[in-house]
Amino acid sequence: MADARGPATPPAIVWRTATVAATRAENDHARTLELDVPGWPGHRAGQYLDVRLTAEDGYQAQRSFSLASAPESGRVEITVERIDDGEVSPYLVDELRVGDQFELRGPIGGPFTWSVADGGPLLLIAGGSGLVPLMAMLRHRAARGSTIDARALVSVRGPGDLLYRDELTALASDDRLDLRPTYTRLPPPGWSGFAGRIDAAMVAAIGPPPQERPLVFVCGPTPFVEHAADLLVDGGHDPARIRTERFGPS
Ligand SMILES: Cc1cc2nc3c(=O)[nH]c(=O)nc-3n(C[C@H](O)[C@H](O)[C@H](O)COP(=O)(O)OP(=O)(O)OC[C@H]3O[C@@H](n4cnc5c(N)ncnc54)[C@H](O)[C@@H]3O)c2cc1C
Repeated sequence: MADARGPATPPAIVWRTATVAATRAENDHARTLELDVPGWPGHRAGQYLDVRLTAEDGYQAQRSFSLASAPESGRVEITVERIDDGEVSPYLVDELRVGDQFELRGPIGGPFTWSVADGGPLLLIAGGSGLVPLMAMLRHRAARGSTIDARALVSVRGPGDLLYRDELTALASDDRLDLRPTYTRLPPPGWSGFAGRIDAAMVAAIGPPPQERPLVFVCGPTPFVEHAADLLVDGGHDPARIRTERFGPS
């Protein structure tokens, strides 16, 4: 908000204490944590937060996690996928219990956000847990009853790796939303949809075409994001309309 004295100062990003209010298994290696965070200022779809864990000996580990919940929900939810040899994600997926506490700060992130006021059409491309911030955008779009043309291409190894499966099925009943997975390793028997790593043909098939100047959001492991961004630019999409978020190691 701005006034005659100029833009208001954005709220400071301070460390707050989060309490686990509920947990929900999304598949056998990912879990959503619903958090109570007193003083949470609200967020925009696409933003993330930092989690800081402190061991009894004072050792600290910090990682970033996208907000999964729609801004309208008033909830602070993250979805964490377990990296088997990881330091932080196995603890968040397997160990944390309702009532446990840790520190977080946020919301963080500006360019990788979308609101219905930004318009469309919208093209979302996710690799694995890169779906999380894009799901916040889809939830926001649904919460607002938006009819903005939206397409989503989600790359996962197999159906068991897809996050939010039932909710995605329900969202896909919206005929202004075209949501398609590609299974890179284990397509289900008889599957006739996309299979394999995302390629130029998939990007062209999901649309919208570059002439419609979609706003494009790509999120996932670094190599996935770079591959998708190259496909989009080679396919004629305006780089200024493509926003990316890299989750993994470079
Ligand atoms: C802005 C942002 C938002 C993020 N949002 C989410 C989210 O919503 N959900 C989520 O599950 N993760 C998310 N991440 C990734 C998350 O921050 C951690 O990197 C991830 O949970 C692994 O942490 P770890 O401590 O378990 O693994 P580490 O101990 O850091 O790493 C263990 C091993 O796994 C590799 N590795 C690390 N991260 C990944 C990865 N993402 N994919 C493949 N290999 C990896 C490392 O190179 C290392 O070899 C996000 C990252 C960023 C930067």
